[in-house]
Amino acid sequence: MTLRPVKGMNDILPDEVGRWHELEAVLRRELELSGYAEIRTPFLESLDLFVRSIGDTTEIVEKQMFSFQRGDETIALRPEGTAGVARAYVGHALHAKEPVSRLYYLGPMFRAEQPQRGRYRQFWQAGAEVYGDPGPGVDAEMIDMLVGILHALGIENLEVCVNSLGSQGTRARYREALRAYLEPKKSALSEHAQKRLEDNPLRILDSKNPKDRDAVQGAPSILDLLEPDDLAHWEGLKRALTALGTPFVVSPELVRGLDYYTRTLFEIRSTAGELGTQNAVLGGGRYDGMVEELGGPKTPAVGFAMGLERVLLAMPKRAAAERPRCFIAPLGERAATEALLIARELRQAGVPALADTRGGSLKSLLRRADSIGARLCLVLGDTELERGVVALKDLVEKSQSDVPRAEVVARTVAALSRPPGSAATPA
Ligand code: ATP
Ligand code: MG
Repeated sequence: MTLRPVKGMNDILPDEVGRWHELEAVLRRELELSGYAEIRTPFLESLDLFVRSIGDTTEIVEKQMFSFQRGDETIALRPEGTAGVARAYVGHALHAKEPVSRLYYLGPMFRAEQPQRGRYRQFWQAGAEVYGDPGPGVDAEMIDMLVGILHALGIENLEVCVNSLGSQGTRARYREALRAYLEPKKSALSEHAQKRLEDNPLRILDSKNPKDRDAVQGAPSILDLLEPDDLAHWEGLKRALTALGTPFVVSPELVRGLDYYTRTLFEIRSTAGELGTQNAVLGGGRYDGMVEELGGPKTPAVGFAMGLERVLLAMPKRAAAERPRCFIAPLGERAATEALLIARELRQAGVPALADTRGGSLKSLLRRADSIGARLCLVLGDTELERGVVALKDLVEKSQSDVPRAEVVARTVAALSRPPGSAATPA
């Protein structure tokens, strides 16, 4: 029986990892340029943390949690990063150390959903949070930074959707308005939406069920019900985005699947690459109530989370940078030991080197050198050992020269620094 990975979980093989590294390097660089510092929180948290922060009537908590019992604790694999970061922020009293904290994370998240392109059960997110700044300037700055990052990754065709969910007062009024609008259409709603009508009608706006989508057409817009402070914040966000030159689309139907959001809400979609229907590459918003909810002082906060698999689907496939490599082909047992020494010397000089000591014919060794994409092959047999030389073959230039053993490292480094085609003069 062949063992397969668990449903919805993927192996990332070495030939794909280069693109991951490239993406992660850009993210770290850009986030650090904007003053974010990395935080690493555990993959496992108490289930209760997510119930309290994300909300027990959300899709994630209702249906998508991987959790298990251990002693008297119910533990969950984290479905998102914000709750754990907020827990750490409160637990380590970071608010007492600095008025504003900028934190970012990068790592796997777990949700039991139906796997499809761009939707997996283990997937990677990069995200960032700003604590202590009520916005809306910082909200606009974050959205603008994200557009810049996606452009730097070569992703075009972006749509930036923004909305405001107001604060408690606005939300309460809107909940009633939405309930009043949907109540007469109750029988046309999905069974799940009928339940949500009682406890969380905003969730119905987020439903993917066609029945619910029809029913919410023409529903009142939350933007018409914003209370004065919320309205000022919303107008401030639009002004700041306009001043930064970041195009955006006002999207009153945007709710997103987590209950903790207040005021600013955003999502960036792209029609680039192989994304298909899972076209949301990132989402985020303000969550001014969470720190207090988790036992900290009242602290405004805003953050985003980006799905890395989706970003990779949207990213153009650039040719991987060619890595000059050096392959060492010893012929015979004595040469094999010498090959290990040469490989070590090369690595100490920063040259990626691989010695093949399995034994075998020159022909098979050269074939292997070719298959790993080596630029150079160092061949040494008994004859070379006796003469104190190594044969240096340039597999791209198709040239060969004997190099004194003491000069192998210097000559290899020199050969690798020459672009192929700029013909070397054989010694
Ligand atoms: P969707 O509407 O696509 O389910 P979501 O609202 O659940 O997204 P968030 O919880 O806000 O998404 O997560 C932020 C980002 O993480 C998404 O925009 C997406 O890029 C990525 N993401 C979310 N769930 C998955 C998943 N199951 N597999 C891969 N990426 C995901
Ligand atoms: Mg989802």
